[in-house]
Amino acid sequence: MIANLRLFRGLARLAAAVAAGIGALALFGWTQGALWLTSVVPGLVPMKPNTSACIMAFSLALGIQSLWPSKPAAIGARIIALASGAIAILTLAEYLFGWHLGIDQFLMLDQTRSGIPGRMGTNTAIALALIGIGVALEAGEADIVILRAHIVTLGAAVVALFTLVGYMYSATYLYQVASTTPMAMNTAIAILLLCGAVLWLKPDRGLMAAVHSADGAGLMLRSMIPAAVIIPVVLGWLALSGERAGFYDTTYGVALLVLSTIAIFTLLTAGNSRSVRALDATRSRAQKDLEEAFVSVEQRVVERTHELNEALARLADSEHRFELATEGSNSGVLDLDILSDKLHCSRRWNEMLGRGGDQPLNTAAFIELVHPDERTSAMRALLAHFKGSTESFSIEVRMRHTDGTHRWMLSRGRALRDERGRAVRMIGSQTDISEIKALQEALRDASIRDGITGLYNRTHFVERLNAATHLAVRHDLPLSFCMFDIDHFKQVNDTYGHVVGDDVIRAVGAAIAAGIRAEDVGARYGGDEFCIMFEGTPAAGAAMCLERIKARVENTPFFSKDGRRFSTTLSFGVSNLADRSVPELIEAADRALYEAKSRGRSRIVVDTYTPPIRKHA
Ligand code: GH3
Ligand code: MG
Repeated sequence: MIANLRLFRGLARLAAAVAAGIGALALFGWTQGALWLTSVVPGLVPMKPNTSACIMAFSLALGIQSLWPSKPAAIGARIIALASGAIAILTLAEYLFGWHLGIDQFLMLDQTRSGIPGRMGTNTAIALALIGIGVALEAGEADIVILRAHIVTLGAAVVALFTLVGYMYSATYLYQVASTTPMAMNTAIAILLLCGAVLWLKPDRGLMAAVHSADGAGLMLRSMIPAAVIIPVVLGWLALSGERAGFYDTTYGVALLVLSTIAIFTLLTAGNSRSVRALDATRSRAQKDLEEAFVSVEQRVVERTHELNEALARLADSEHRFELATEGSNSGVLDLDILSDKLHCSRRWNEMLGRGGDQPLNTAAFIELVHPDERTSAMRALLAHFKGSTESFSIEVRMRHTDGTHRWMLSRGRALRDERGRAVRMIGSQTDISEIKALQEALRDASIRDGITGLYNRTHFVERLNAATHLAVRHDLPLSFCMFDIDHFKQVNDTYGHVVGDDVIRAVGAAIAAGIRAEDVGARYGGDEFCIMFEGTPAAGAAMCLERIKARVENTPFFSKDGRRFSTTLSFGVSNLADRSVPELIEAADRALYEAKSRGRSRIVVDTYTPPIRKHA
């Protein structure tokens, strides 16, 4: 589109207003009996009252459409246009069928002598009927409807043009059909103005869209159509006027007309071809630019695709290496999207827990796999890391294997944070440390136990004794302690050798393990010395248990390497904790043991200590 569309709309309104003015002037003339107002040029055919009314109605319909662009206004405009157009159609029917419907002098009495009184000419009726249809269609919305409005309107314009040329050239039959009323000159002018108003009311639609387009076709239409209409009319009129004035005869008149027409149209066509060439040049420049831009875009696409492929290859390579590294390290990899709570675990991670890897996981499902004893601490550690309280996340927990057992896992990870420090993703690894844990357990056990008997060693026993005496004192509970020793063990070693001596030590250990209750604690104190702690049991009760152990060992037959049978005896010293300290308790038992030895061995001596009676104030 070129040009200012608002300007054309304004001109369309103006044209409609002028047409209405011409119509109104004629009607006014009829009411006042001033006939010169009905024909503009005195003596010419007057505009009939019905024609004036139709022209004014069409102007009104166009004005309504233009000033109030709404659906109700469009309907109103259509009704006015069609009702007025109906007068023209009825007039045509009167001509065709010889009717007298009484519409001709409905508005006004016509005493002029032009045609049937009050009846508009056939050509006027045709033109007004076409304009009526054109104005009604112009109120539509669809492109095809507007196009039809413009085509119909052009028909009316052609009829009016015939009239104008007829008047200019005094060619009566151009404005009068047979002997019917001729079309008045002012009617022809008003109809042409109305046609212009219909065409330019919507200058970007229908036929006018092509006329106002910025391409070569639009340029052609804008320059050639006005020239094709106006120039021949003007030249013809000039040729005719010159001939009538006696400047030349018809032969020269026609020759001059033809020559001047050829000259003017050749010049016009040449001018147009320049404009079209300029347009073509601009278009081919734009096309060349577009082609160049296309080539450069294509080149960039090729380059970017190449870069992308390289990046993808690098990524695949690094992913492969990462996969190999994680497989090689025997660790599983976890990738937690914290915002969507989706946990992705590597194949190795699933394998470690016997999982298929097809079940989806999230944080809750992960924590659910953790042993109930470690679940709370695992959750706490995870949340603390999400909050940023810890640098990294690391826990040792037991996790449920699909076979129902639990495996010790070392789970480690580190959160990735957004610009506000919020944890959004966590990448971590998980290693099965069950074997290390078992080894640690074995080491710890070995550090507190004696290698020959499997009983606790002295260090651990004393720790347990200290803890137990604290409890006994606090809760005022009895606790007894026994120290015992193999009689004449040196002789056993000397007679049968150390290996057999070890058998005896092992047998004593087994007798202790079998003889005490689960809550009692037995230990190898050192050499051939053993000890037992009886929690919640006084020395007298402990002595009964010791009798069983003593009998068991003393009734056990031992054999030397060469098959000699022998037996051994044990001596026991027992003490009550009462109000004493651990060293005092041990010392008391030791003293009782010494006494058992000195009283002939193979006996149990109970320390007779009783705490002093407290005097209350
Ligand atoms: P008593 O009745 O007075 O206890 O006489 P005894 O010969 O048993 O004397 P004592 O308890 O002092 O001797 C302990 C001996 O136990 C000394 C040592 O050679 C022996 N012994 C200590 N530890 C072991 C051991 O692990 N294996 C063996 N075979 N002998 C040990
Ligand atoms: Mg001994």
